[in-house]
Amino acid sequence: MNSSRILVTGAAGFLGSHLCDSLLNEGNRVVGVDNLSTGSETNLAHLSRESRFEFVQQDICQPFDVGAVDFVFNFASPASPVDYARLGIETLLVGSAGTLNTLEIARRHNAGYLHASTSECYGDPEVHPQSETYWGNVNPIGPRSVYDEAKRFSEATVMAFHRYHSVNTHLVRIFNTYGPRLQINDGRVISNLMSQALAGEPLTIYGDGSQTRSFCYVSDLIEGILALADSDEHLPVNIGNPDEWTILECAEEILKVTGVSGNIVFKPLPQDDPTRRRPDIRKAKALLGWQPKVKLRQGLELSLEYFEGCVDKRLVLNS
Ligand code: UDP
Repeated sequence: MNSSRILVTGAAGFLGSHLCDSLLNEGNRVVGVDNLSTGSETNLAHLSRESRFEFVQQDICQPFDVGAVDFVFNFASPASPVDYARLGIETLLVGSAGTLNTLEIARRHNAGYLHASTSECYGDPEVHPQSETYWGNVNPIGPRSVYDEAKRFSEATVMAFHRYHSVNTHLVRIFNTYGPRLQINDGRVISNLMSQALAGEPLTIYGDGSQTRSFCYVSDLIEGILALADSDEHLPVNIGNPDEWTILECAEEILKVTGVSGNIVFKPLPQDDPTRRRPDIRKAKALLGWQPKVKLRQGLELSLEYFEGCVDKRLVLNS
């Protein structure tokens, strides 16, 4: 993609802001839309003098139009378990009305479309690792359902716009991702444990820490997403790092990278917390020639300065 005019929703979020950077680096013009409910303008501050970037504060649940665009990346949604528990109805709305509104924009302007879907579509998976053909094991009424079912509804809607209106759509199923700009207070495991270690606080492990996740560094993820956007694939594609870690092992890596000999405190496991998660990325490898390059240790080292800055700011604010 280059010299295109591209709409990114959720532009002030963790992934949205990194996506804007990559699209601008490739020579595109970008219109970033966000209602700033969980995103932060700080993530876009470095683009304030970039003439090819325009920011529009807008809730995508209301119909809107930013003029002709060649491509739409729909990344707007609360995304951490803490945020979508707090903003349950908003999460359902953005994953339904928001997705419909952005698909209408793609249809109206004959633009390509890529939707940020999620490994949460697989729920607490009975199949391991998870490949795209697995339909998932989702509790439709549990605390995570506001996110999981909104994302599953979005996938159905995206496929319908492809089938009924021939929109050139793409679906990426994103697995746990981390890196600079991950919100420090969003309750996710990497942001929580990094900030706790750096602040000299005990690391909180939910349950016994034997549940697994597979963590992808943000630059690898964005590369995979851009390759998918350029492809002819319309069915979902997993993008993530298949290196699987128990949460306890992840905490140990964080202690090594931060050089801290921290304590661990065990807290109750949240309801419906998936016991394991690991992407099968054979499809992405074969289709896009993509695979992640950054190992967890290296990615945590690359994120250290960012988290140190966040913790310093927090300490100053609290003093
Ligand atoms: N977790 C933890 N301590 C924390 C935050 C999260 O042990 O301070 C666990 C959480 O219960 C889950 C895993 O880490 O099993 C990943 O949680 P996260 O919120 O990052 O995202 P999820 O993959 O559950 O959507």
